[in-house]
Amino acid sequence: MSAIDGLPPLRAVIAEHGLSARKSLGQNFLLDLNLTSKIARQAGDLTGCDLLEIGPGPGGLTRGLLAEGARKVLAIEKDARCLPALAEIAAAYPGRLEVVEGDALQIDPLQHLTPPIRIAANLPYNVGTELLVRWLTPRDWPPFWQSLTLMFQREVAERIVAAPGSKAYGRLALLAQWRADARIAMSLPPEAFTPAPKVSSAVVHLTALPAPRYPADPKVLEHVVARAFNQRRKMLRAALKGVAPDMEDRLLAAGIKPTDRAEQVPLEAFCALARAVAER
Ligand code: SAM
Repeated sequence: MSAIDGLPPLRAVIAEHGLSARKSLGQNFLLDLNLTSKIARQAGDLTGCDLLEIGPGPGGLTRGLLAEGARKVLAIEKDARCLPALAEIAAAYPGRLEVVEGDALQIDPLQHLTPPIRIAANLPYNVGTELLVRWLTPRDWPPFWQSLTLMFQREVAERIVAAPGSKAYGRLALLAQWRADARIAMSLPPEAFTPAPKVSSAVVHLTALPAPRYPADPKVLEHVVARAFNQRRKMLRAALKGVAPDMEDRLLAAGIKPTDRAEQVPLEAFCALARAVAER
């Protein structure tokens, strides 16, 4: 029996259901329920919220989210071997856990959720960045989620919260910080996971802003930023050549020196540049 919910400890769950970790599915499990509850608490006040969890695995974080009071958890898991273990959790929390088997990249979670919605996940590393970018780049803002509480490799977490002038600063920092507040909420050593990965991890917490920090067309901003950082060592007048006619004039109109490099340019100036590029 575990202290948080009276269900068996996760090691017993894994042994009973034969859940040996598979590298191909990015499986590094969290087995300490105190730790998973602590991660769940980073997601804010869960009472009255629906939670979307990607990759519940044997259910450590799922149990943390339910124990911390989530109104409902929708858990999307690709590995069918985990379903019996997750069914036991669903039985212990009647009507509060829905499990969908499948690939999170292919499933639309919205038909299963009611706002307000938060997202929390110990993401499979192979799909984590792609999901984050999708959640950050919907056409309309605010998005369907209020907050994201996500485990990443430490290096990816640093790229999300990076400031201009640092090596980690780039597309991910700009996409995240344009429309959300982003901070590293927790750091975890490899030994927190079973099996232990090679690298350290961190939980990033992002809160959606009601509106983007500065005006810009999302598609134009994404394009300009992608081009600028594709060749991050080049001066912007070279890296952005051909993005629009008279590119140097547009850089100057946005207050950016054409000889600057992308990693020196703050978010506000990239938004000004996106507006200048969108002008005829
Ligand atoms: N949440 C569990 C924990 O904290 O112990 C497991 C985390 S493990 C890092 C990632 C989980 O995501 C695994 O259970 C894996 O099977 C699942 N997964 C991998 N790719 C997936 C995908 N495309 N869609 C949904 N789940 C996926």
